[in-house]
Amino acid sequence: MNVLLLGSGGREHALAWKISASPLLTKLYAAPGNPGIGRVAELVKLDVADHSAVAAFCQEKKIDLVVVGPEGPLVAGIADDLRAWGIRVFGPSKAAARLEGSKGFTKDLCAKFDIPTAAYGRFGDLASAKAYVEKVGAPIVIKADGLAAGKGVTIAMTSDEANAALEACFDGAFGAAGAEVVVEEYLTGEEASFFCLCDGATALPFGTAQDHKRVGDGDTGPNTGGMGAYSPAPVMTPEMTERTMREIIEPTMRGMANLGAPFAGILFAGLMITESGPKLIEYNTRFGDPECQVLMMRLKDDLLVLLNAAVDGQLAHMSIRWSDETALTVVMAARGYPGTPEKGSAIRGLDEAEDGAQIFHAGTAINGGALVANGGRVLNVTALGKTAGEAQARAYAAIDHIDWPQGFYRHDIGWRAVEREKAGA
Ligand code: AMP
Repeated sequence: MNVLLLGSGGREHALAWKISASPLLTKLYAAPGNPGIGRVAELVKLDVADHSAVAAFCQEKKIDLVVVGPEGPLVAGIADDLRAWGIRVFGPSKAAARLEGSKGFTKDLCAKFDIPTAAYGRFGDLASAKAYVEKVGAPIVIKADGLAAGKGVTIAMTSDEANAALEACFDGAFGAAGAEVVVEEYLTGEEASFFCLCDGATALPFGTAQDHKRVGDGDTGPNTGGMGAYSPAPVMTPEMTERTMREIIEPTMRGMANLGAPFAGILFAGLMITESGPKLIEYNTRFGDPECQVLMMRLKDDLLVLLNAAVDGQLAHMSIRWSDETALTVVMAARGYPGTPEKGSAIRGLDEAEDGAQIFHAGTAINGGALVANGGRVLNVTALGKTAGEAQARAYAAIDHIDWPQGFYRHDIGWRAVEREKAGA
């Protein structure tokens, strides 16, 4: 098979790494990719927003499958446009990607199909949103409806903070994404990420993970796209997984089919495990980054076989095998992140580091033959271990070989899982 992978981050490097190991693969192309992806794929300069250009490339290169990494192209309808040209695509339609593209859409789906989630209101104007905050009180959560690059959520501990967030939203802080807001109940519990591989009718559990969103050790400082992750998430016991499938995922699959928008692709549920069980915080309609990196480390089966089965509606009779080991990834970021990262600093020592770990590239570039930082999150240093503690030790041992003074990372990725192990839980 000839495969085209869209995207350029650590998530896509992990996908490329796994796809390139498939005996089904003839040739892998990636657009735009990155230097790490370039080791297993031919990088192509394509404007992913120009769907006809992508389609023309697919026809010229006889692409048998397009795999879409990030959410932007999915919400913009790239899967529908390519399918209209007869091209096979792994990723949801525009209508199904509303699960990520509109938080209000997902909340209404939950209400209609009895899916446990935070109580909420949807508002298109400041006055009625403020009136709801006044009625419910703080703590309360304010969310821009549309895609806001992970920045559209405010956890407001006071009504004043909530009102300020609403004003910012309706003032255009998130552009069109904030023209409507969801205001919702503040949930407490432990968060977990739950993934399913879906073919429109069947959803198969596709691993669990937990990530660290804050930039600093001890989960302090501003939010980021994710500073590290590990899989599996110990909180997702077989019983919790079974409840999540029955109470959240299966009604979602039936609901989407019912609305004429069956979901095919990766369904990524952000969950809060509350005292009364799992509740849906949000859906994403693609793999998480860096969660994908740890999932790919543990996946024993041929990813390309599974993606094909999802595209062809053949998941009902399949099962998926996972390593029993824990995978853990530490994100190395460029100084300045999550503000403006410094670009261009040289990174050395990756060959030595790669002895005991898998290094996925995120924001890297080649400049004058040297590997340099070219983004906020730059490298994902990833390792397997019999325990979270062992995976953590291996990832940090690999980082010790990396010579990049302008980079930084958190020193406590996986702390919750490691503490659980120490407590013998
Ligand atoms: P989201 O972009 O919806 O994932 O929200 C970002 C983060 O905000 C989540 O990972 C949670 O940590 C937090 N969050 C979102 N909604 C809620 C909620 N209703 N209650 C508590 N925390 C929330």
